[in-house]
Amino acid sequence: PTKGRTTGPAEAVVDLAAYRANLAVLRAAAPTALQMAVVKADAYGHGAVEISRAARQAGAEWLGVATIEEAAALRRGGDRGPVLAWLSPAGADLAPAIDAGVDVAAGSTAQLEAVLGAGATTRPRVHLKVDTGMARGGVRGAELSALFEAARAAQDAGSIEIVGIFSHLACADEPASPVNTAQEHAFGEAVAELASYGVEPELRHLANSAATLTRPSVHHDLVRVGIASYGISPGPTLGTPADLRLTPVMTLRTALSLVRRVPPGTGVSYGHTYVTKRETTLGLVPVGYGDGILRAASNAASAWVNGTLVPIAGRVCMDQVVLDLGDLAAERGDEVVLFGAGTRGEPIAEDWAAAAGTIGYEVVTRLGGRIVRTYV
Ligand code: PLP
Repeated sequence: PTKGRTTGPAEAVVDLAAYRANLAVLRAAAPTALQMAVVKADAYGHGAVEISRAARQAGAEWLGVATIEEAAALRRGGDRGPVLAWLSPAGADLAPAIDAGVDVAAGSTAQLEAVLGAGATTRPRVHLKVDTGMARGGVRGAELSALFEAARAAQDAGSIEIVGIFSHLACADEPASPVNTAQEHAFGEAVAELASYGVEPELRHLANSAATLTRPSVHHDLVRVGIASYGISPGPTLGTPADLRLTPVMTLRTALSLVRRVPPGTGVSYGHTYVTKRETTLGLVPVGYGDGILRAASNAASAWVNGTLVPIAGRVCMDQVVLDLGDLAAERGDEVVLFGAGTRGEPIAEDWAAAAGTIGYEVVTRLGGRIVRTYV
């Protein structure tokens, strides 16, 4: 039990040793590829600066982020190593990132023009993005030839350096899906087409965590590992974190703010979707959907209090959640673990995801600014 806490409504304890160990597991799964630690969205809610330092300590050659603002934050945090920012939103000011040595992506001729017109003083280092079947960013069909031709011409003119060609898998968490084979094949064709223009970039990359763990044929030169590095399984088909030899990195813990006995028939929280069946103890937890606790986990997820799993009673509110403690001995200040490594019997992020009908990624990424991150 932790009494008299003063750090805020709740803390996310981030185990950096577990994170480094997960990267080692992923390294062992893809020993011949460079490793890009994906630290976008504040390192999936874990804190990008601290996680990126741990990634470098663990030997990650690359960091990957979505936006150039995220890349700039890594530079402000002191990182000087290779970083790729793969989103290119309309109107983004790319020059500061390029001048800070951040690699950028071009997934259309318009995006390549944005890079060329950014006004950077450094020659932009570009990764060409191919749509092999996700139908999100990247070029396919006739657009692909147009981008490759324009990029080759820009490289010949000394305006860019083509460092990479990459794509993203849509169904890697379902290893048996034929979509994986089709995307792998399409990627090979795109690499060959680029080579036919005389361009053979140093880095071909396609694999996310799931493909790093299950599909060596797509490891190529570099793997981009996100979710598994945080000790969360890419999906139920791949098994639990323990099955994958991964350790959950984040423990979300707080303390009971109120404990009281209520009679049978007590309606709990908004809408009275939970009504006590017998006399019971309710425990109040000072976090809610305003902190990123999934409202869809109302009446579904459990938390760990004094060695016991206890259910959420009623709807998750903006700042608070009510637990039905039954006859458990508990008092204000006792520790509540919403999810963690699972080693004490507490839920893991995947349990909350299953309860809320979502994925482990969302459970950790949504945690808001009121949750204090601490690092161990
Ligand atoms: N590569 C790209 C382009 C991504 O958008 C992401 C995240 O969605 C990743 C790699 C990492 O994926 P995962 O977290 O499944 O390892």
